[in-house]
Amino acid sequence: MLSCPRCGSDHLVKNGRIHNGKQNHKCRACGRQFVQNPQQKLISPQTKELINKLLLEKLPLAGIARVTDVSETWLQHYVNQLYQAQEQQAQGAEKKGA
Ligand SMILES: [Zn+2]
Repeated sequence: MLSCPRCGSDHLVKNGRIHNGKQNHKCRACGRQFVQNPQQKLISPQTKELINKLLLEKLPLAGIARVTDVSETWLQHYVNQLYQAQEQQAQGAEKKGA
Protein backbone atom coordinates (compact mmCIF):
# COMPACT_ATOMS: atom_id res chain seq x y z
CA MET A 1 0.00 0.00 0.00
CA LEU A 2 1.31 3.37 -1.03
CA SER A 3 1.73 5.96 1.71
CA CYS A 4 3.03 9.50 2.00
CA PRO A 5 6.86 9.66 2.48
CA ARG A 6 6.49 12.71 4.71
CA CYS A 7 3.62 11.93 7.08
CA GLY A 8 2.85 8.26 6.34
CA SER A 9 -0.79 8.92 5.55
CA ASP A 10 -2.44 6.74 2.90
CA HIS A 11 -4.98 9.44 2.16
CA LEU A 12 -3.64 10.10 -1.33
CA VAL A 13 -5.06 11.43 -4.56
CA LYS A 14 -3.71 10.92 -8.06
CA ASN A 15 -2.16 14.12 -9.29
CA GLY A 16 -1.47 13.61 -12.99
CA ARG A 17 1.69 12.15 -14.42
CA ILE A 18 5.24 13.47 -14.54
CA HIS A 19 7.34 13.80 -17.72
CA ASN A 20 8.38 10.13 -17.89
CA GLY A 21 4.80 8.86 -17.50
CA LYS A 22 5.02 7.86 -13.83
CA GLN A 23 1.97 8.44 -11.67
CA ASN A 24 2.25 11.48 -9.46
CA HIS A 25 0.47 11.43 -6.09
CA LYS A 26 -0.54 14.12 -3.66
CA CYS A 27 -1.07 13.61 0.05
CA ARG A 28 -4.34 15.08 1.25
CA ALA A 29 -3.10 15.17 4.83
CA CYS A 30 0.02 17.32 4.39
CA GLY A 31 -0.07 18.34 0.73
CA ARG A 32 3.19 16.65 -0.21
CA GLN A 33 3.50 15.56 -3.86
CA PHE A 34 5.56 12.51 -4.70
CA VAL A 35 6.16 9.75 -7.23
CA GLN A 36 6.63 6.19 -6.13
CA ASN A 37 10.10 4.99 -7.07
CA PRO A 38 10.12 1.25 -7.87
CA GLN A 39 13.92 1.29 -8.32
CA GLN A 40 14.30 1.58 -4.57
CA LYS A 41 12.95 -1.95 -4.29
CA LEU A 42 15.29 -4.01 -2.14
CA ILE A 43 16.94 -7.04 -3.68
CA SER A 44 16.82 -9.94 -1.22
CA PRO A 45 19.92 -12.01 -0.37
CA GLN A 46 18.16 -15.04 -1.86
CA THR A 47 17.75 -13.21 -5.17
CA LYS A 48 21.41 -12.17 -5.15
CA GLU A 49 22.43 -15.78 -4.50
CA LEU A 50 20.32 -16.90 -7.44
CA ILE A 51 21.84 -14.16 -9.63
CA ASN A 52 25.34 -15.30 -8.67
CA LYS A 53 24.48 -18.87 -9.76
CA LEU A 54 22.94 -17.72 -13.03
CA LEU A 55 26.02 -15.56 -13.75
CA LEU A 56 28.18 -18.68 -13.41
CA GLU A 57 26.00 -20.30 -16.10
CA LYS A 58 27.03 -17.41 -18.39
CA LEU A 59 23.43 -16.45 -19.11
CA PRO A 60 22.88 -13.05 -20.73
CA LEU A 61 22.11 -10.28 -18.25
CA ALA A 62 18.75 -9.59 -19.91
CA GLY A 63 17.71 -13.19 -19.27
CA ILE A 64 18.87 -13.12 -15.65
CA ALA A 65 17.00 -9.85 -15.09
CA ARG A 66 13.81 -11.41 -16.46
CA VAL A 67 14.10 -14.60 -14.39
CA THR A 68 14.93 -12.87 -11.11
CA ASP A 69 12.61 -9.87 -11.67
CA VAL A 70 15.25 -7.18 -11.18
CA SER A 71 15.93 -4.27 -13.54
CA GLU A 72 18.71 -4.67 -16.10
CA THR A 73 20.17 -1.36 -14.92
CA TRP A 74 20.44 -2.65 -11.37
CA LEU A 75 21.87 -5.98 -12.55
CA GLN A 76 24.55 -4.29 -14.68
CA HIS A 77 25.54 -2.18 -11.67
CA TYR A 78 25.63 -5.26 -9.44
CA VAL A 79 27.80 -7.21 -11.91
CA ASN A 80 30.23 -4.29 -12.23
CA GLN A 81 30.59 -4.25 -8.44
CA LEU A 82 31.21 -8.01 -8.39
CA TYR A 83 33.93 -7.79 -11.05
CA GLN A 84 35.61 -4.89 -9.29
CA ALA A 85 35.70 -6.84 -6.02
CA GLN A 86 37.12 -9.88 -7.81
CA GLU A 87 39.84 -7.80 -9.48
CA GLN A 88 40.83 -6.26 -6.17
CA GLN A 89 41.03 -9.69 -4.59
CA ALA A 90 43.18 -10.97 -7.46
CA GLN A 91 45.53 -8.00 -7.19
CA GLY A 92 45.80 -8.48 -3.45
CA ALA A 93 46.68 -12.15 -3.92
CA GLU A 94 49.42 -11.30 -6.42
CA LYS A 95 51.01 -8.82 -4.04
CA LYS A 96 51.00 -11.37 -1.22
CA GLY A 97 52.58 -14.00 -3.50
CA ALA A 98 55.41 -11.67 -4.58
ZN1 LIG B 1 1.48 13.47 3.92
